[in-house]
Amino acid sequence: MNLQAKEKRSRLGLYVHVPFCASTCDFCGFYQKKPHNDDFERFVSGIEKELNTYSGSLEVDTVFWGGGTPGLLTPRDMERLGQALLGKMKAPPAEWTVEMAPAFVTRRKLEILKQIGVSRISLGVQSFRDTLLDKLGRQHTRSQVFKAIDMVQSAEFQSFNLDLIFAIPGQDQAALQEDLNEVVGVSPQHVSTYCLTFEEDTALFVKLSEGKLSIDTELEADLYLRAWDQLAEAGFEQYEVSNFSKPGFECIHNINTWCMEQWIGLGPAASSQYAGQRWSNVPDLDKWLKGIDEESPCRVEEVGLSPDILAVDSLVFGLRMNAGINLVSWESRFRTPKYLLDPLLTRWESNALIDPWSERGCLRLTREGRLVADALGGELLDYFDKESMNRPKPALETRLFS
Ligand code: SF4
Repeated sequence: MNLQAKEKRSRLGLYVHVPFCASTCDFCGFYQKKPHNDDFERFVSGIEKELNTYSGSLEVDTVFWGGGTPGLLTPRDMERLGQALLGKMKAPPAEWTVEMAPAFVTRRKLEILKQIGVSRISLGVQSFRDTLLDKLGRQHTRSQVFKAIDMVQSAEFQSFNLDLIFAIPGQDQAALQEDLNEVVGVSPQHVSTYCLTFEEDTALFVKLSEGKLSIDTELEADLYLRAWDQLAEAGFEQYEVSNFSKPGFECIHNINTWCMEQWIGLGPAASSQYAGQRWSNVPDLDKWLKGIDEESPCRVEEVGLSPDILAVDSLVFGLRMNAGINLVSWESRFRTPKYLLDPLLTRWESNALIDPWSERGCLRLTREGRLVADALGGELLDYFDKESMNRPKPALETRLFS
């Protein structure tokens, strides 16, 4: 393949959802379950079979194991899962991330991950303070966090990420600053910071509904800004609302997803965007396995992708990235006229939520805009719902997946 052809190829990520957790965190809205008996074995053999539903070898750019708690798997299961993926890929991926919970990191597991080619470990630290970890219902302690970081550093992966949560009940500015000091002190190449959200059907949501907790949006905004400033001072570049890295250590897998490239999700609850379709696997281990065994994958929310869908989603996700969206490329990639955005962008610009866009043709949030990125994404979706009634349909086929 010559360089020109290679540049046109849509990048492909493989995501594996490992749906097991030792216990449920109070804020968790992901599909996960406590593993029983031979669940690990059933899961890994299900992934092997699911991989075989795709014909031939896959040209994969990035791999990501998330969950759930991938680090809960035994070293033997990790190795088998890794070999199954490698056997399906034309070549090892450029980036391979595995999420781990600090309580389940062992030297043996890290050794196996290194052997199969994992390049990046993402540790779900959330906080360095035991009292705040307790508020989140996390099972690990501060001392386990430091032990896990120490083991990951000694294993010398290409990079590691730390996940932090802020706006935890009882966390003030000083407590967040302490957590960030600890982060900077252990020098990860990448940091993800998430404002605590109250998902329905979680223990924290119940407490919120009962009035035992409240949300302080002013404090949240203040914590956002402090985190951004403190990480910038420590040399981390913000490249997405919640993501920061040392130069050259951005998570390519996530960037490809936000840029509406292609990904195949394996395992229960994993979502995919591949070959013109988007779907999620059923969020239930047994149903997922049954579908795989009967060669009739059990999928939910399956839709055919149209340029319209991708055009809007690329704006919603691209908006969160500091690089912003080049509207000229966006228009040509999705065959969607950018003038459709004029009324919305003019309003946002007059409210100082985006940088002046019309001359440079780049849609990029200001710092104020970044604070309300989710709300702006919602506005975009509403706007296009209304706009699409009158808009001309794209005249040409898009070549997204050439
Ligand atoms: S470890 Fe992650 S997936 Fe598991 S319960 Fe906690 S937040 Fe949810």
